[in-house]
Amino acid sequence: MTNPAPKKQPQRMCVSCRTRRDKKDLVRVTLKDDGTLTVDPTGKLPGRGAYLCKDEKCIKTELKAHRISRGLNAQMSEEELTKLSEEILKLCQTN
Ligand SMILES: [Zn+2]
Repeated sequence: MTNPAPKKQPQRMCVSCRTRRDKKDLVRVTLKDDGTLTVDPTGKLPGRGAYLCKDEKCIKTELKAHRISRGLNAQMSEEELTKLSEEILKLCQTN
């Protein structure tokens, strides 16, 4: 008799520090049709997404470096990206 395999958590990689983690430990950022990025707390929004650790360092570094926006072809200003990073951080803190 073999035991059923433990249910594996889906794993995703943080685009900032490139650490693989359980999906639930990451926050998803999605590119909308209008070219702006949005936080996707449910992980269910359609579109291209990137994952980040729920960690201030990863979120701020990544959005500041514009790497997400480049990777996803987002059209956002520095100001908008800063606002988004604050939004993500707030979200992570309430979780
Ligand atoms: Zn990270």
